[in-house]
Amino acid sequence: MSKKNVLSVIIALILSLGITILTNSENIFKNKIPTESYRVYLKGELIGLIKSEDELNNYINDKQQDIKEKYGVNKVYIPNDINVVKDITYENNLTSVSSVYNTISEKSPFTIKGYVFTIDKTKSTDYTEGTDEDPNATVEDKEKIIKINVLNKELFKNSVMKTVFSFVTEEEYENVINETQNAIIDTGEIIEALYIEDYITSKEAYIPVNEKIYTNEEELTQVLLFGSDKNMSVYTVSKEDTLESVAEANKMNVNELLIANSALRSENALLYEGQQLTVGVMNPLFSMVEEKHVVSDQTISYKTEYVYDNTKMVGEQYVRTQGSNGITRVTQKVKIVNGETINALISGSEEIKPVVNEVIVRGGKRPTIVSAGNWGWPTNIPYIITSNYGWRWGRLHRGVDISGTGYGSPIYAAKPGVVVDVSYHNSFGFYVTINHQNGYYTRYEHMANLSRYVKPGDYVKMGDTIGDMGNSGASQGTHLHFEIWDGYPYRAGSNSYNPLLFY
Ligand SMILES: [Zn+2]
Repeated sequence: MSKKNVLSVIIALILSLGITILTNSENIFKNKIPTESYRVYLKGELIGLIKSEDELNNYINDKQQDIKEKYGVNKVYIPNDINVVKDITYENNLTSVSSVYNTISEKSPFTIKGYVFTIDKTKSTDYTEGTDEDPNATVEDKEKIIKINVLNKELFKNSVMKTVFSFVTEEEYENVINETQNAIIDTGEIIEALYIEDYITSKEAYIPVNEKIYTNEEELTQVLLFGSDKNMSVYTVSKEDTLESVAEANKMNVNELLIANSALRSENALLYEGQQLTVGVMNPLFSMVEEKHVVSDQTISYKTEYVYDNTKMVGEQYVRTQGSNGITRVTQKVKIVNGETINALISGSEEIKPVVNEVIVRGGKRPTIVSAGNWGWPTNIPYIITSNYGWRWGRLHRGVDISGTGYGSPIYAAKPGVVVDVSYHNSFGFYVTINHQNGYYTRYEHMANLSRYVKPGDYVKMGDTIGDMGNSGASQGTHLHFEIWDGYPYRAGSNSYNPLLFY
């Protein structure tokens, strides 16, 4: 190959390379004519490259207009740290304005002026007496600081008042405020205090529009009462329904049903077919407290004593003394939180009419024995029932809560029988179970200590002391949780009964 030829080949190569390079370069920069575009920064961070600043501004204006219409406000605030910088660039992967807007609303949402109400439950007084705590309560249930966004203070105030009127009537409320309650003549009750037990504060704020902002009184009232709209639903009344059946069908007690439907007001309220009722598990966002002074008469049932007279024929009997029930007037202080008696203490009792035990004389030679009615009351008298058998907070409360007689006061066997449990359980606390050997079992929970009086296998007579009233296990205050079962408690096939039906 001659030098000339070599050179021409090299030139050809260079040329061909050059063409190749040129062709590739043309491909790379094909659509890359330098153009004017805008870099969008949020808090100094690049979030997009857009073609037109006006397009973004128009888009933002439209969104602001939508928000204004949705909430009926005349100003929507956009983050003040959005910066748009003009740039000349070859890049062609421009961002759409909607995507820039989405990034902004995700990272630093638009705001409107309103009020944030904070309900702080961490400062409420701890309950001291009378009710079992739900052992299944989750951490969410114990959420202690709740924030509610509204556009104006009136909406929040009105919703709180509506919620308050779920628990007390407007008339009761007015009478407390104006100090026009009727004094107690013989028996009756007065509300000594009515208040919300949580610290509720409010402050004006710029509220991000992606947070829940309440604009409807009814909706906020329901949330204040049920905790969340997930907890409630609508029930349509059918022909056969009664308050009891509606409550039972929805795992509520009648009192809870009345609270959830203030229109029903009294237990005698009439239901009609097709009526829509609010049902569900209530979990009020604040604690509405009523402190009551209550004077009531408690009936003390007489007992029957049998006296045996061996001068008479066996089978012959007569009543020597007619029995009559006594009446004890009991004064108590009761604390009711959201319709539930939390604390009850007897501050005085007075005998209005003494109890006279019935004495029956029977023929035959046998020692004099005393045998009271069928079931003996398990605590001292007088007492206060703080919670009944039945649905409570969406769970079946399988006993009665008896309180008012004080910490350490005696607990008595309700019937003769054999002690089967003297034990401790996380929920029941220190407890005793008795097998009455007639098919029935009784259980006594939340005692002050492991029974000092009985051990498993012991035979007890009715009225024998079997424990001290306490507050152990899942309990919020001093009380006895008393259950009656037709088999060993909580075993498959065993049924629990309302103990009050046995007295
Ligand atoms: Zn209980």
